Amino acid sequence: ARQFTRPLNDLANQWNTLLSAIAGAERVFEVLDEEEESRDEGQTAELEEVKGAVVFKNVTFSYEKEGAAATLKDISFTAEPGETVALVGPTGAGKTTLIQLLSRFYDPDSGTITLDGRDLTSVTRDSLRRRMAFVLQDSFLFQGTIRENIRFGRLNATDAEVEEAAKLANAHSFITRLADGYDKVLGIGGEGISQGQKQLLAIARALLADPSILVLDEATSSIDTVTEIKIQEGLQRLMRGRTSFVIAHRLNTIRQADKILVLQGGRLIEQGDHETLMAEGGFYSRLVQAYLEDRTRDTEEPTGGK
Ligand code: ADP
Repeated sequence: ARQFTRPLNDLANQWNTLLSAIAGAERVFEVLDEEEESRDEGQTAELEEVKGAVVFKNVTFSYEKEGAAATLKDISFTAEPGETVALVGPTGAGKTTLIQLLSRFYDPDSGTITLDGRDLTSVTRDSLRRRMAFVLQDSFLFQGTIRENIRFGRLNATDAEVEEAAKLANAHSFITRLADGYDKVLGIGGEGISQGQKQLLAIARALLADPSILVLDEATSSIDTVTEIKIQEGLQRLMRGRTSFVIAHRLNTIRQADKILVLQGGRLIEQGDHETLMAEGGFYSRLVQAYLEDRTRDTEEPTGGK
């Protein structure tokens, strides 16, 4: 499970690079993204209001354009505005790649991706990504105060708006208990607070960004139960009314999703909600069975196995 953390973190860092660009550090961005951006010329428009209907239609994509088999093969699905879509499948199945296409870090080789009926290749990357936010296992936090780290979600937010977002994210109470409160300076990568607290900050930041599309990479590392409950509550507030794509590790999360996309070897082999997929008795139902058996074994032998 750890293995897809890295590409997604790369994605988050690219996203943050983009945010910096919006903030005025255009030069860095231009150097990093010159080639990519040139493909935007002439054909693109700014994305305005976004409801969040996402449609993949026969999407095929390869990182290597010669010889190698496609990474995503003929992917088709629909996400209605506000729906939660869980991406499930073994490492290397293509979950992260699907997110990269949705965020236009790459475009499909064939097939189309639309947002509210508009082909993604016809909108600018900036305007698309301004409508998106990422909450990852190891979300990008920089050296600076907690306030600055949250405000990164929307740079013109007032202090009151930053605190409001922190309250909704369930982060306010831990922040105000710190000696310097919102002015506490974090080290590189958020050094100085716990893993769970970092996630609460990431949720606050995303709430401030008020995206139409949300990408979540659910935590696999163990976080204390109290913080975990706070995170789940914060996430639920964040996800409400937004189209959310979750790279899910918890059966509970997956079960609650409106739609589960089961990927294997770059193909979308099953899709539907939990009940539907369980009733079909395919790959997903076997994954769930194996997971439940594994858990039973863990419970029976608390000292044995992993
Ligand atoms: P998942 O998120 O389900 O673990 P990924 O989308 O990360 O799967 O990877 C799907 C496949 O694409 C894997 O075989 C992986 O090695 C390959 N892959 C991922 N990123 C790149 C890249 N930047 N260049 C080439 N191949 C890649």
